[in-house]
Amino acid sequence: MTGKCLIIGAGGVAGVAVHKCCQNSEVFKEIMIASRTKSKCDALKNQLQGKTSTIIHTAQVDADNVDEVITLINSFKPDVVLNLALPYQDLSIMEACLATKTHYVDTANYEPLDTAKFEYKWQWAYRERFKEAGITALLGSGFDPGVTGVFCAYAMKHYFDEIHYIDILDCNGGDHGYPFATNFNPEINIREVSAKGKYWENGKWVETEPMEIKREYDFEGVGMKDIYLLYHEELESLAQNIKGIKRIRFFMTFGQSYLTHLKCLENVGMTSIEPVMFQGNEIVPIQFLAAVLPDPASLGPRTHGKTNIGCIIQGVKDNKPVTYYVYNICDHQECYKEVGSQAISYTTGVPAMIGAMLIMQGVWDKAGVFNIEEFDPDPFMEALNKWGLPWQECFDPKLVD
Ligand code: NDP
Repeated sequence: MTGKCLIIGAGGVAGVAVHKCCQNSEVFKEIMIASRTKSKCDALKNQLQGKTSTIIHTAQVDADNVDEVITLINSFKPDVVLNLALPYQDLSIMEACLATKTHYVDTANYEPLDTAKFEYKWQWAYRERFKEAGITALLGSGFDPGVTGVFCAYAMKHYFDEIHYIDILDCNGGDHGYPFATNFNPEINIREVSAKGKYWENGKWVETEPMEIKREYDFEGVGMKDIYLLYHEELESLAQNIKGIKRIRFFMTFGQSYLTHLKCLENVGMTSIEPVMFQGNEIVPIQFLAAVLPDPASLGPRTHGKTNIGCIIQGVKDNKPVTYYVYNICDHQECYKEVGSQAISYTTGVPAMIGAMLIMQGVWDKAGVFNIEEFDPDPFMEALNKWGLPWQECFDPKLVD
């Protein structure tokens, strides 16, 4: 391994990952930041150059174009490509990794532009080809998916013989002061929360209307919040990889203002992914909406409060029932002071760096396409404590009914 990492994308998450790679120069000796808009890559480089011994390069790339990505990989020769562009680019970047025999890491599953399904099938279809090429694709190395899968694997390894129930709780207690804004890419975020809810129970998926199931939970560091059941992509892989699982659900907090705005935008058609004609041009309403909403990368200085994301896991060990809650609390302003971003980008960018690091170091070393819970969780858990996302455990948590 050469210590070279190609980072594709220069948005909120990539900004944090780049900062973290530059704090970790021993592993990340040289990085290339490449994105559609090169000036954003250059701005990141200018922030960090001189403050790190990591050598930083930048380039323009359209990651939808496989040949462009291949040319870039061949010129830089990285050990790993860290894909922090959008889910639409996953397959073209995976193709380029295959062509150049380069490891691949991302934080979100592939999405075709015209559907919003959050399914791994397109990426899992690459399993044999990655295996034959002798390279690793690590899928979903953000927080959720990402750390939540590592939490489950860690629980399975250390505390359970069998896991029966998992509730993933994603609480953002942050306030950015806007009536409506999304904490990461607006298009992806809105597609996710306006989709139908879904959870896995007794061997099958149970579908709900969007936001149909609501509970309350008292989060450490944040307080009492409304949580809503959503479908989230890690449910698909965890339902397969955690043997014996009877039910797995995902809940996220939303404030009333966010939900009221979202409902209104939905009602007037602004969240649609169907193209419409506007003044002679075809536009996609949700893309236009994303263009007028605040840039998530600009929320950092305005966001106060904490996130608390974790998993409540129930099962048995030595024939005795066990309940285990593992979670991370992250403070928006602390993140901003450290890397100039709010906690949502931070909690995604740090695990992205850690996933790339473990592959570059050869600690996670197997050929094929894998979700994060399929690797040994221990080195990742240790790295979370070291690189800014310390976790806490509790064996007597309040449950979600
Ligand atoms: P942003 O919109 O802030 O950034 C996306 C970046 O990708 C931009 O720099 C954009 O370029 C670039 N990009 C888009 N299309 C292309 C292309 N065709 N070629 C090259 N570059 C391209 O998104 P975020 O940083 O908020 O999110 C990044 C990823 O992280 C997303 O996939 C998101 O789903 C995922 N995510 C995962 C989470 C997790 O916990 N697992 C949580 C949050 C996000 P330009 O600047 O020109 O627009």
